[in-house]
Amino acid sequence: MADRTVEQHLAAVLAVARPLPPAALPLGAAVGLVAAANVVCLVDLPGFDNSAMDGYAVRAADLLGATPNTPVRLPVVADLAAGDAPARPVGPGEAARIMTGAMVPDGADTIVKVEDTDAGMPVVAVFVETPLGSSIRRRGEDLPVGGPVLASGTVLTARHVGLLAASGHATVTVHPRPRVAVVSTGAELIAPGKPLQPGQIHDSNSYLLAALVEAAGGHTAYRGSIGDHPDEVRALLDRLATEVDVIVTTGGVSMGVHDVVKAVLRERGEVDFVTVAMQPGKPQGFGVLGERRVPFFGLPGNPVSAFVSFEAFVRPLLRRLLGLEPALAPTTRVRLTAALRSPAGRMQFARATVSRDPHDGRWLATPVAGQGSHFVADLAAADALLLVPAEVTHLQVGDEVESILL
Ligand code: AMP
Ligand code: MG
Repeated sequence: MADRTVEQHLAAVLAVARPLPPAALPLGAAVGLVAAANVVCLVDLPGFDNSAMDGYAVRAADLLGATPNTPVRLPVVADLAAGDAPARPVGPGEAARIMTGAMVPDGADTIVKVEDTDAGMPVVAVFVETPLGSSIRRRGEDLPVGGPVLASGTVLTARHVGLLAASGHATVTVHPRPRVAVVSTGAELIAPGKPLQPGQIHDSNSYLLAALVEAAGGHTAYRGSIGDHPDEVRALLDRLATEVDVIVTTGGVSMGVHDVVKAVLRERGEVDFVTVAMQPGKPQGFGVLGERRVPFFGLPGNPVSAFVSFEAFVRPLLRRLLGLEPALAPTTRVRLTAALRSPAGRMQFARATVSRDPHDGRWLATPVAGQGSHFVADLAAADALLLVPAEVTHLQVGDEVESILL
């Protein structure tokens, strides 16, 4: 069968994905998530007329003629801190000392700031006339009760969370973080930190992918490594299919005799094992598992292949589940500082380091030396993926290419 294009495989992936059912989350857990409902204000903002300054609540008419040489002296009949409810109104010829955020007492129409007075108690001398209404924050002037706090579809920032709290909401209805299981497969894999026997390597994919899931807005609900025993792999996948929203495995999807993921899942007919016209990342498994129809990715085992596959397919699916636009990451045009060869008929995701041209500020890209899909050090050193179209086989110094900045 002919290879799928990257676009065709991505379309097949996104075809099974819908935003996760909305859930009410505490505000502290909601930043970065997408609001799934409109939200209105439960209180007036501000909730009452209050002072914008530390000073004195007065009647503006009483200050006429006040100057430093001819201050107006007023008895101070109350002392109001933020949180106090005024016990009595301010009458003609009276003042109340008031702190920022305290309720403006009835009768007062103006706040004179403490700097324009002698700060006196129990009589204050005011040195300036103060325009009517000065330094009063009006009830509802920011947002009235019932006013719009959030529109459905808004990506929540810290500022939105602040507004939600101010407007009386302890929770917010969002598309929750997808719970993702990340499973490395391979008899050769040993946990990092444990000594290696001949032929063994440290599992790096599950750590790489777990970190990518978290950075993409998902929650890594399970991270583990498992050997090449079909019964164990089958049992683990069956369990995970009841617990999580997405399953991502690495390894065991190509042409080897121990390719356990492929062997176990192909017999069920729920997962397609295909080849995609890309480099790296050619063998791909994708389908849905179990009654809950949990999206399943069987990514190739080479770490660079797993990384590129995540960027090309897993991240867009997670974005769709989160209620975000599922497009590939935005691309940036970069200019090559070295030539690059690319295979015919396959879209290449070449790793590169990027910098700004000191003369014109444009992005420059230098492909890393090790483009083989096992080069984890060069992957870590790279900060861009160059997207070399399938039909392009040679790029020269100075050629421009689209890239994903990492
Ligand atoms: P596979 O796709 O299982 O044939 O694996 C391809 C290559 O990736 C082999 O060299 C594996 O040893 C290596 N590999 C597979 N899984 C991992 C992993 N979790 N961490 C690091 N390397 C891996
Ligand atoms: Mg393997």
